[in-house]
Amino acid sequence: MLFGWLAHFVHRSSLKSDCSDLMFLDVLKQFFVMGDAEHESGSSENFRISTLRILLVACLLVVSSFTIHSLVRLDGSDDEFSLASLGLIYIALIAFLLFSSRRYHHFSAMALIGLLAITGISFITLSASPIGIEFGVITLYFVPLVVRLFYSFKASLLFSFANCLTFAVDMYINNGQVRAFVESDGVSMMYLQAMIFILLNFALPLAVSRVILTLQTTIFRLKELANSLNHHSDLYEEIFEHTGTPTLLCDKRGIVLKLNQKALDLFPGVLAASIEGTKINDWIASTSDSSNRFFWQKNVSECVLKANTKSFLEVHRSSLTTHGHYVLHLQDVTHLRALTEKLENTQQTNSRLAHFDSLTRLPNHQNFCNQVNHRIRNVSDYYTGAMFIIRISQFKLLNKQYGREQANRVILNFSRTLQARLSDKTISGRLRGVKFACFMPVGQTYLIQRNLRTLIKSVLPDQIRIGDDILNIDYQIGVSYYQNEGETSEELLERCEMALEYSTSAERIAFFDQQLEAKLIQEHKLGLALADAVKNKKIEMWLQPQVISSGEIRSFEALARWRLDDGSFISPIIFIKLAEELGLLPKLAENLLRQLISVLEAWHEESIKTPIAFNLAGQELMNDVFFALLMSLTSERPWLSDMLELEITETSPVMTHPLIHKRLRALSQYGFSIAIDDFGTGQASLGQLIDIPANILKIDRRFVSPLPDDRRHLDIVKSTIQLAKSLNMSVIAEGIETREQANLLMSLGCDTLQGYYFGKPSPISDWTKNNHEKAKQLRMVY
Ligand code: C2E
Ligand code: CA
Ligand code: CA
Repeated sequence: MLFGWLAHFVHRSSLKSDCSDLMFLDVLKQFFVMGDAEHESGSSENFRISTLRILLVACLLVVSSFTIHSLVRLDGSDDEFSLASLGLIYIALIAFLLFSSRRYHHFSAMALIGLLAITGISFITLSASPIGIEFGVITLYFVPLVVRLFYSFKASLLFSFANCLTFAVDMYINNGQVRAFVESDGVSMMYLQAMIFILLNFALPLAVSRVILTLQTTIFRLKELANSLNHHSDLYEEIFEHTGTPTLLCDKRGIVLKLNQKALDLFPGVLAASIEGTKINDWIASTSDSSNRFFWQKNVSECVLKANTKSFLEVHRSSLTTHGHYVLHLQDVTHLRALTEKLENTQQTNSRLAHFDSLTRLPNHQNFCNQVNHRIRNVSDYYTGAMFIIRISQFKLLNKQYGREQANRVILNFSRTLQARLSDKTISGRLRGVKFACFMPVGQTYLIQRNLRTLIKSVLPDQIRIGDDILNIDYQIGVSYYQNEGETSEELLERCEMALEYSTSAERIAFFDQQLEAKLIQEHKLGLALADAVKNKKIEMWLQPQVISSGEIRSFEALARWRLDDGSFISPIIFIKLAEELGLLPKLAENLLRQLISVLEAWHEESIKTPIAFNLAGQELMNDVFFALLMSLTSERPWLSDMLELEITETSPVMTHPLIHKRLRALSQYGFSIAIDDFGTGQASLGQLIDIPANILKIDRRFVSPLPDDRRHLDIVKSTIQLAKSLNMSVIAEGIETREQANLLMSLGCDTLQGYYFGKPSPISDWTKNNHEKAKQLRMVY
């Protein structure tokens, strides 16, 4: 039965544990609650169940063998039968207790103690044989020990003392009745009984108590220790979890032992368990030191996530523990790295902006100078170089005509062509505006200016394409030589600038020399004086008469005069050009125009209808403010357009600009007469002559002076007059100094004459004082 039940137990256990090859020994261990798991749990309950089962199994074995023995000897007597029956009842009872020993172990223990007590008492009181009595006594003697196994020491002591009665009864029975049973002397028997009594009732329970107490104290201490350990471990765990930084603990081979949540967050979609126990190198790689497997042992190393190469980490080795473990702090630097990259890019762009021209990518002024200085300083031998500045002429007009974007394209095309044509040894750069600088080493032959001129001309493109248009490009160039005399690039550039000022439309390439420098300084002073003269309206208008064939003054030409404090005059040819360069011309023209208008207003009131011609260099007309002023003055005085003639010089390159044409057409529609000055000397083509709504042609003094003797000039004058007539224009001849010239030109069909022969330019007041006496007098000249 026991084995059947054990087999059943084995079967259940094997099902439960799902382990079919469970060894018999393991079954026994499990049955007696002595398995490793129960052992490690250290629970006192397991200890009790285990003890209980050992005792119950022992009892069962004893009772079973006794019962089997009784059954074998069964001879039909009542005694034997009742013994066998009692044995079977006991087996059933003990088996039941064994069965309920796990779930109801308190009850089983109590029942076992009760059973022992009842058995003991029953044997003592009911048994007729001395062995039966002794069995009962010994059974009772065991009770304190068993009680101690399940209950307190006091409870066991209670039973020990109770057994004193058992001992007394035993002594009594032994002395009175069963002396015959023991052959030996009564005293020795008494000692044996006393020894058994003391041993089982006091010695063993005390010894077991002592062991249990020690075990309990140890368990208690161990528990306390475990609690404290758990507490500390919890604290450390908490600290580790909440360091605020992603933290990772690894051993010296780089195996991850533990990582906190923050560190785990750096590896999205990965479980802690899949990282713990693996190598750190499986997850991250060093960006700078890829060959070093132990990069994480460095104080700081930058790494990239292997699963996402766009994520960057900084690994800080924070400390090395006493166990040789490494605490690593991880920092997500993806954002920081992107920022740094952006910053570096910006710095690069800034540096490019600081050293290169953004449009052409050529070195800028400073960079060009640095490069040249570097070159000059690093050539030890005799070195000759030429520095030159190229300025694209009339670029402002190009800007206005085509717009900034197209004009920029011209600059870009120009710089590309230039770079392609220049030798590698040339340093080039872009200065401000449309000025380019080049520095090239030159050989002896190129020290001859003519040769250098040819060389420079050969690298400059004559034409540049903008969309479908092909533009003719003009340049001004200032050149300065470097001959190893310790000049710096800045000085050379300055000299080029000076030379540039002296390039003319006839000779575009100008070379620097010392006189030029002095001249420029003087010009600078003159510029300052001019600005002052314009501001203080010191420049005044003089009038020169223009006479018709009858001798009458048809009109006057207004000519600007600037008298210095010392009484000397500066030629308008000089100061008009200077004013143009300094941007003072529109203001000067405004002052001069206002002077004329005040005279014309007086004349208009007196009904004197003599027009005055006003010279325009071109820049005035391009100036919006001046043009608006002219228009508003005209709209306030409708008679003005009949009294004011406009002389434009065709030599001025501005005159080819479409805006000038547009404005001249507007002025012509307002009724202004427009005269083309210095005709034949400039660059106006016949086509442009038609475009400009001019109605007067002025033959320049250059053609008139050689008359009447020079045939060629005579032919030019003749054909000019014919041209004017064919275009329905009237003709004015300038610079008439002799009677012959006057007669000749008049005979050729010239309508109006002007020159010293008729009258030199004089201040306005000369012509207006004494009721215009001088003007009237002059009419008589011819
Ligand atoms: P222009 O318009 O050709 O002026 C005629 C120049 O010839 C004037 O010189 C005049 O004094 C000079 N002239 C006139 N008749 C004779 C003559 O018989 N013999 C000689 N030898 N010279 C004669 P000026 O006044 O020195 O002016 C020179 C140039 O300055 C002018 O040439 C004109 O282009 C410019 N200019 C003068 N005043 C103004 C002005 O108010 N505005 C502008 N934009 N330019 C002016
Ligand atoms: Ca003129
Ligand atoms: Ca002229």
